[in-house]
Formats: sequence, C-alpha cells, structure tokens
Amino acid sequence: NKTLLEVKGLKKHFASKKGWFGSAEYVQAVNGISLTVHEGETLSIVGESGCGKSTTGRCLLRLLKPTSGEIWFRGKDLTKLTAKEMRAMRSQLQMVFQDPFATLNPKLTIRKILEEPLVAQQVPKEQRSSLIEETVRIVGLNVSHLDRYPHQFSGGQRQRIGIARALMLRPQLIVADEPVSALDVSIQSQILNLLQDLQEQFGMTYIFISHDLGVVEHISDRVAVMYLGEIVELSDKAALFQNPLHPYTRALISAIPVSDPDEKKERIILQGDLPSPANPPAGCRFHPRCQSCMDICRTEVPKETTVNGQMVRCHLYS
Ligand code: SF4
Ligand code: MG
Repeated sequence: NKTLLEVKGLKKHFASKKGWFGSAEYVQAVNGISLTVHEGETLSIVGESGCGKSTTGRCLLRLLKPTSGEIWFRGKDLTKLTAKEMRAMRSQLQMVFQDPFATLNPKLTIRKILEEPLVAQQVPKEQRSSLIEETVRIVGLNVSHLDRYPHQFSGGQRQRIGIARALMLRPQLIVADEPVSALDVSIQSQILNLLQDLQEQFGMTYIFISHDLGVVEHISDRVAVMYLGEIVELSDKAALFQNPLHPYTRALISAIPVSDPDEKKERIILQGDLPSPANPPAGCRFHPRCQSCMDICRTEVPKETTVNGQMVRCHLYS
C-alpha cells in the first residue's frame, strides 16, 4: 500500500466577527485531522452536514488555505506551495462537486467546458479534440452532444460532465464531495459504478465525501468518520460496518434502513443537536450526545487509540 497523500494535523479555523467591537469568534471547522491515503484506494469521509468534511476536502486540494498542518503529496507539502507551483500540481488533483450545474458555466458548450483544463495546463491545441472526445466516451456521454449547453442535459448526465472535466488531465487523486446526493437513487448507482470503473481503468485514488452511509458502504475501501471537525474513527470498511467502535459511528450505522424486514435492529437515537463548531463542548466533543458518557469525557479530550487495526478516539478504549 503505497502512500499517495499524508495529512498531518490539518486545521481550518474561520474568523467570524460578531458584535460592535468586532470581537472575533473562531469557527473550528477542521480541528487537527491526520490521515493517510493509499494509492488506488477509496477513502470515504463521512459525517453529518456541518462536521467539516467538505472544508477538509477543499483544504486537501488547496481550494481553501488551511490554518495549519501539513498535506504531503508526492514528496511535497501542498500547504507550502506558491500559487504558481500549485497550478502546476493541479493536473494531479481534481475535484468532483455535488451540484455540477452550479459549477458548469451555463454559457459554455460542453466542448468548451472540457477544454478549459487543457488550456490551463497548456495542452497543445491539436491534441485537445481527441482528448475531449475520448473522455466523453469514457464517461458514457454521446460525442455528438459536445456542442450542447449544460441545461440541455439531465442531472445524471451533468454529473458525468463534471466527472469528465475532473478526468481531462488524468489526475492521480480525485476528491468527490457528495457527488451523488443531488441525484435520484436509480441514477446514483450508475454514477457510483462509473466512478468505480474509472478507478479500475486509470488506477485513480478517491477521497469520497458523503453523509450517506449506504453510499459509503458501496464504494469505500476505508472510512473516516468525522464529528465536529475531528476524525473519531477510521478503519477498513468491513470492520467499521460490522464492528463500529465509537458511539457516534454506532449511532450512524444504527440509522441505516434495513432492507430485510425480519432483521431486528435497534436504532440509537442521538440526543440533542450538533453543537456549534464555534463553541465546541469541552473534553470529548461528542459527550453531550453520547449514551456512554463518563465523568472523564466531560473534561479530557480522548486520544487516538488503535483497537484491532481500527483507529478510535474514545475513552471507552483507553
Ligand atoms: Fe462517549 Fe466518552 Fe467515548 Fe466521547 S469519549 S464518545 S463521551 S464514551
Ligand atoms: Mg458538505
């Protein structure tokens, strides 16, 4: 398992001014994430909306500047690169967004949209057409539709265009942020299968961001569970779904609907709402909602522990 990306202590804090005197409030969107991504795998980051998973994805590709931490990719720390150096790196690192309609320029034809990354990376003009046509075929779109505009396509087709755009420069790493959550369930599996086929064909690595554990179970090799800006559990998919360790992971998994009506499953209902990342609880950030909360959880931050190869941050295991 060769390491493709290594993240150390990644933090992203946003300052949001409040009040007359501008006393700054710091939203700790991402609060010290460390993880390793292996070449050719799909690592999912899962959690409720507002847990910091999208911010993490954007920081990893330097679409957002992290507050601190290191992001090592092919011998370079991306956080230290200049804008120019980062542009040169861009061909290796691409993003697929949740809503391609919002990120595809409505005034441009698909051909123009797909040409943009080639122009940015100075791919010679005579090579562009064949690359565009090849990529459009690879994602299952019709080459004769290249001169149409984004609004002339269905949601699923638009996501294929979004994937084609990410694929134009044959990147090594794709961060996909909720790529199927805006789509009908029947279309979701087509897009997930396409992503898996592409991975087999090109050996790409995916970081797959989702709130949907059903989707995550389908596509991942490993899964990181995020809560309030931190990773609380990280392990192989099978271990995570069969033997979740963290009380938060257990609650998330207990909420997945079962297809077999005879299967008895006890649903763990989370107490309360997700606290504000501007004012996270002391000790374990999950403690106000945890059914297993102990005294120590209210004051002491749990450290990373490894249990049978599963990383977990919870006092139950330390
Ligand atoms: Fe629950 Fe304590 Fe574990 Fe936090 S550290 S998840 S409060 S048992
Ligand atoms: Mg999001």
